[in-house]
Amino acid sequence: MQKLVVLTGAGISAESGIKTFRDTGGLWEEYDIMEVATPQGWDKNPEMVQKFYNERRRQLLECKPNNAHKGLVELEKYFDVEIITQNVDDLHERAGSKKVLLLHGELRKAQSTRYPGLVYDIDGWEIKEEDRCEKGYPLRPHVVWFGEPVPAMETAIEITREADIFVVIGTSLNVYPAASLLDYVSHGVRVYIIDPEEVMHHGRAGIEVIKEKAGVGVGILFKKLTGKNLPL
Ligand code: NAD
Repeated sequence: MQKLVVLTGAGISAESGIKTFRDTGGLWEEYDIMEVATPQGWDKNPEMVQKFYNERRRQLLECKPNNAHKGLVELEKYFDVEIITQNVDDLHERAGSKKVLLLHGELRKAQSTRYPGLVYDIDGWEIKEEDRCEKGYPLRPHVVWFGEPVPAMETAIEITREADIFVVIGTSLNVYPAASLLDYVSHGVRVYIIDPEEVMHHGRAGIEVIKEKAGVGVGILFKKLTGKNLPL
């Protein structure tokens, strides 16, 4: 089976009702990203940061995977599909995708502020102020903030290098190091980009842009790759 590697970003979850960061009406218009997605923001005002992620988590519990997430699951019948996602939602997993590498953490988990390796499932939507890790330290969201290392990046590079086909869905390719993955796609490999807006791809050769929202775009991709209609 050919290896189909898919890099996803906030845009794939937009049709599930989760706001992206950079779109009009996106999260960055309501919040200062330096306040809610950096270690400095956490040090300055942990209550506000906790509230921000608690709200995101509460919203996530009401959202469902959309046809784009589901279409990638259908592609597993034809390809060895590996998803590399920048999203912290769990919609790929809930849709049923078997191989999902989470680059930026998981919204539904908490980690110790002192021992980042101590990671816990969150029961419900809230990390409460009094919640502690087993060593007695406060808990923070298990997400990678700007300026923090991305431990899964090396694995993501390896997977990308092995791709026979590479697909990018719903990411502005603005957030590094994730955006650099395109540079590791082997020469001659077909690359598809699904996004309703222009995406920065630095003029790489062999890119086919499907300028659609993810739900429609994955259907088009499915037809191109399998010759069949997406059965959803
Ligand atoms: P981004 O906001 O920078 O870019 C979103 C991209 O999605 C844009 O190119 C936009 O045109 C496109 N888009 C909007 N609606 C779409 C749709 N219906 N179908 C397909 N594409 C659509 O997001 P990013 O590139 O993922 O990077 C920002 C960071 O935001 C990431 O680190 C990610 O972890 C985080 N984030 C995650 C979530 C989530 O988990 N769902 C939501 C918001 C932000």
